[in-house]
Amino acid sequence: MTPVTTPTELRLAKRMARLGTETAFETLAKARALEAQGRSIIHLEIGEPDFDTPSNVIEAGVDAIHKGYTHYTPSAGMPALRETVAAEVTRTHGVPVTPEEVVIVPGGKPTIYFTFTALVEEGDEVIYPNPGFPIYESLINFTGATPVPLQMREEKDFRLDPNELADLITDRTKLIVLNSPHNPTGSVLTEQDVKDIAAAIGDRDIMVLSDEIYSRLIFEGRHHSLMSLPGWRDRVIMLDGWSKTYAMTGWRLGYGVMRKDLAAQFGRLMTNVNSCSASFTQVAGMEALKGDQESVNNMREQFHARRDKFIAGLNNIKGFSCRLPHGAFYAFPNVQKTGWASKKLAEALLNEAGVACLSGTAFGQFGEGYLRFSIANSMENLDEALKRVGAWAEKNL
Ligand code: PLP
Repeated sequence: MTPVTTPTELRLAKRMARLGTETAFETLAKARALEAQGRSIIHLEIGEPDFDTPSNVIEAGVDAIHKGYTHYTPSAGMPALRETVAAEVTRTHGVPVTPEEVVIVPGGKPTIYFTFTALVEEGDEVIYPNPGFPIYESLINFTGATPVPLQMREEKDFRLDPNELADLITDRTKLIVLNSPHNPTGSVLTEQDVKDIAAAIGDRDIMVLSDEIYSRLIFEGRHHSLMSLPGWRDRVIMLDGWSKTYAMTGWRLGYGVMRKDLAAQFGRLMTNVNSCSASFTQVAGMEALKGDQESVNNMREQFHARRDKFIAGLNNIKGFSCRLPHGAFYAFPNVQKTGWASKKLAEALLNEAGVACLSGTAFGQFGEGYLRFSIANSMENLDEALKRVGAWAEKNL
């Protein structure tokens, strides 16, 4: 018999070529490699709170492990947690939500993936914010649907323009993605914006994925969701989770709120992909929602103070100008006056100034001319980053 040889070519499914990525993780790897060579790098690339998970939540999670919460739960989540989330969303959004309309998933991303998997296919169009969280575009392409970027314009304070949205809607539009507060620009939709978006969509048979993962991190004004408008609850899939609000990125816990029949389909996807979210994590998530919210308020206050200082500092740097983000924890300065392309500039700042940030193009083609800095770092490090970028700009521009 001829011996079996190891195949040299990996014959991937075609769809893998359409899958994008999150550049933040690549930049982090490059920055770590420089650190391994002894270089000092300030990390402003990754979008995760630098705070610890609140201690009451950690204790609840550890206690849950000891108590035996180490087995499967129902795929869509523990009934008690679905109930807690339903009550919380009913309170925050002012519309009645039942536990059957809540699906507990491992993080924010699964709700994006499941929404696209369950609802869109080749021939469908999906409108999404650009610049925007890169996973939207990646997964729209992955499903074979057509991505239709909606530009988030600086002159509109990076809030989407409902008239432009109306112009992009066609008979093939199946889904629209909204994200407020917005990654990477920190823009926050106003009540009027949300009403105008509803009017732009009208009574067409289009679903909306409303990514509200930063809804507790707003510095001015209030959070407004399309889901709260009369008649919209069943057309909206609302995404939220514990990652950003409770500094729980590594616990992997999130949820989607949607009409009951779609929630049942999400449950089927959960059975196929994850079986369930980790059970002790779900117990900890319950404590996060029901326990003292002081840590959330404290985190928001600290982000607020950092934002004020960091944006003011950026505006003093040659070639940089930055609008005030009203939510989330990112700065998205315009760097067109530097004369540098965003990607080259981000690389130079990493290699020559020791500051890791992302090119605006990591968030889509309309991100050219911008950089994204995460302000999830100490005031001291943010100050040092400003000094380094400022000195680099003086020397090189
Ligand atoms: N949605 C937005 C807008 C995000 O910025 C992120 C994370 O950066 C997510 C969803 C995903 O969250 P998670 O890390 O919990 O999957």
